[in-house]
Amino acid sequence: MAPQREWFEKDYYKALGVSKTATDKEITRAYRKLAKQYHPDTNPGKEDQFKDVSAAYEVLGDPVKRKEYDDVRSMAGPSGFGGTSGAGGWGGGARAEDLGDLIGGLFNRSSRRSSGTRGPIRGSDLEVEAHIGFEDAVNGVTTTLNMVSDVTCQTCHGTGSAPGTSPVVCARCQGTGSVSDNQGFFSFSLPCPACGGRGTRIEKACPTCRGSGVESKNRQIRVKIPHGVEDGSRIRLKGKGSAGANGGPAGDLYVVIHVAPHKIFSRRGADLLLTVPVTFAEVALGTTLTVPTLDGQVSLRVPAGSKSGLTLRARSKGLPKVGKPNEVGDLLVTVEIEVPKHLSQEQRKAVEEFAQATTESPRKYLEVESNARK
Ligand SMILES: [Zn+2]
Ligand SMILES: [Zn+2]
Repeated sequence: MAPQREWFEKDYYKALGVSKTATDKEITRAYRKLAKQYHPDTNPGKEDQFKDVSAAYEVLGDPVKRKEYDDVRSMAGPSGFGGTSGAGGWGGGARAEDLGDLIGGLFNRSSRRSSGTRGPIRGSDLEVEAHIGFEDAVNGVTTTLNMVSDVTCQTCHGTGSAPGTSPVVCARCQGTGSVSDNQGFFSFSLPCPACGGRGTRIEKACPTCRGSGVESKNRQIRVKIPHGVEDGSRIRLKGKGSAGANGGPAGDLYVVIHVAPHKIFSRRGADLLLTVPVTFAEVALGTTLTVPTLDGQVSLRVPAGSKSGLTLRARSKGLPKVGKPNEVGDLLVTVEIEVPKHLSQEQRKAVEEFAQATTESPRKYLEVESNARK
């Protein structure tokens, strides 16, 4: 919140008719009463009073702004800055300048902190993609990633100055990194244009990094990918991102995992999924399926009369759970009835016989529906 010029000129306490020690409640009450009294909808011609009251409440009604306002006013002494007296006002050259410095000194406290480009700067976070096989995701794998990223320049160790030289204190800002720009009563703090806010200037740039202090390097990073990792997971490697500046810490590296699909399995969390085609005869009569797992086989009973889409569960034949190495997911086998595209003569005969022996239509309930409509 930047203080307003108005703050020096206007006594908001007076505008609301309250004392400087008024409580928040008293201020709100006074504002409500006056706002009603001057509201332009019901009191035409009172716009200015209404504005004054609103402006006063905008500051005094906010404890943070009120505190700033009080600070500003207390610098001016009990008589305020004399905004009402037309004679002196803000015109006096020397006095206004002194005041500008005084105010500038007060207000720059916060802006200088935020423009602190001179302090240590954390390196940026980086993201790299890793492609791993299905089994590697199941069992975990240690892999090496190749990447290009900014690292601290080896030649100058990050100073940006050629070897044997060192940065000099910036003459423009005397090493503070900021310059002030006086505009009327206010003084703004800006990053020094001569040194870019660093406070120092490089006289002879490092030939490797041309003064930036960082260089792009091919890096090889060993990453331990935990077992059970899923496609799309992000692994965070602390401090393996870009190098920091001015002694700041390095950023983090995020490794995005892409897991290649398996030939026959898919997965949902720690559960392994498998779809198995079966014939109509197998589900009609019931059968035992022998299906592969990640480390062998498992036999599952399909009961006679099973529906297409039935899912059978082979307990603990899935994947180890992330973070719980002793817990393993299940293998879920979904049976799907496959209808042959072509029938041999023998098959056709058998199916026709089956059809003749089938006296009841499975769509009987639909017939009931359409009869009812007639
Ligand atoms: Zn360098
Ligand atoms: Zn400078």
